[in-house]
Amino acid sequence: MIPDLTVKGGLIVGPEGRHRADLAVADGRVVAVGDLPADGKVIEASGLLVLPGMVDTHVHLMDPGPTEREDFPTGTRAAAARGVTTIIEHTHTHPVRSPGDLAEKRSHLEGRSNVDFGLAAHLWPEDIPGMTALWEAGVSFFKMFTCTTHGVPGLDAASVDAALKKLAEFGGRALVHCEDESLTATAEKTLKGQGRMDPALLTEWRSREAELVAIATVSVLAATSGASVTLAHVSNPVAVEIVSMARRQGADVAAEACPQYFALGEEEVVEHGPLRKFTPPARIRSDEERDRMWAALRGGAYSHIATDHAPSTLEQKSKGDIWSAPFGLPGLDTTLPYFLDAALAGKMELEDVVRLYSATPAQRYGLSPTKGALQIGSDADFVLIDPEGRWEVRDEDILSKAGWSPYSGRVFQGSIEATYLRGQAIAANGRASDQRTGRFLAGLGSRD
Ligand SMILES: [Zn+2]
Repeated sequence: MIPDLTVKGGLIVGPEGRHRADLAVADGRVVAVGDLPADGKVIEASGLLVLPGMVDTHVHLMDPGPTEREDFPTGTRAAAARGVTTIIEHTHTHPVRSPGDLAEKRSHLEGRSNVDFGLAAHLWPEDIPGMTALWEAGVSFFKMFTCTTHGVPGLDAASVDAALKKLAEFGGRALVHCEDESLTATAEKTLKGQGRMDPALLTEWRSREAELVAIATVSVLAATSGASVTLAHVSNPVAVEIVSMARRQGADVAAEACPQYFALGEEEVVEHGPLRKFTPPARIRSDEERDRMWAALRGGAYSHIATDHAPSTLEQKSKGDIWSAPFGLPGLDTTLPYFLDAALAGKMELEDVVRLYSATPAQRYGLSPTKGALQIGSDADFVLIDPEGRWEVRDEDILSKAGWSPYSGRVFQGSIEATYLRGQAIAANGRASDQRTGRFLAGLGSRD
């Protein structure tokens, strides 16, 4: 097959290593890797890194839903500009709970995405009997909460047990938000009773203990049921240790890492209030704790990276008080730049970035090797990076509707020069080309 496109002379980075090679693309797929003739359109990539496109499996784009916070065009523009070519999306206020909901959301999103996307379901306790049908309709995973959050009812231990047993029957996937309901509810009552309105209440309301208790419970039930479970946004080294322990007992549990638990400390929650309101909150209190987080990330205790992109504008964040301010941070604009910078500064390897933010999440949700890899037959989703470049984060350059970032003012080493989706350029120099060619990717259980 004659290639449409050849990427010449770049340094291709995979999860296991890097090598200088050319990449040939035809019909949107990788058709050859090696020392190749300059066929078709030639992209000169000497001096650049070539990474497979990032696969972000925890994203909220509010579309349909509260699109005044974000929508698919703005959110996926941010993704494309910063190297993310595949997302798995779910929106709490407009949940997918049935095959009909999924069909409706798919048709609403036709022509609204700049990157390829899967869609996840939310699980209400009473919907457990319908899980098989939803899985076969093509959802990527089931989102579950152990505490009532963002309007989604929490599942108690018995309901988590029932849901995971059901999930194990058909080999499904789950993403579980872990905070213990009785501990957060009691803390909320106490803090409100004391009339507390200061930002520090966030760390007491959404305490470490509440997260640890729920992580331990869900890990045990994952082990006994045999279900495949990702624990969302694991925020601290002790929690990671509990997940590792469950894995040593044979549980198929994965700890998800988000940049905010590495980049932001507990003192920032106190200092910035609503602009650092997300849950679980940033926990890190010392360099020693931060070092343990990086060691867990490098050493495989964390399975993969995701943003938990859940943006609000500065105005939306600042309205009302600390109790009523919306949870969440924008993340799609900054997550690859943040971890690239970390890799180029020696905190991790570039291979770790590819493993954690591309290869492993693609594998976990059944998208590999079409996504998360640059081997023959893979989709030609790739990112060109200049390791000598630098990017200063500024609010005015944030493409998410949020229009701000907790990292504004920071300078990241490495600049994302261009992003390609199935062989087509979808972004260059921090700008998305807005062709909205993103396609729906059905989940592992799809009968389509
Ligand atoms: Zn989330």
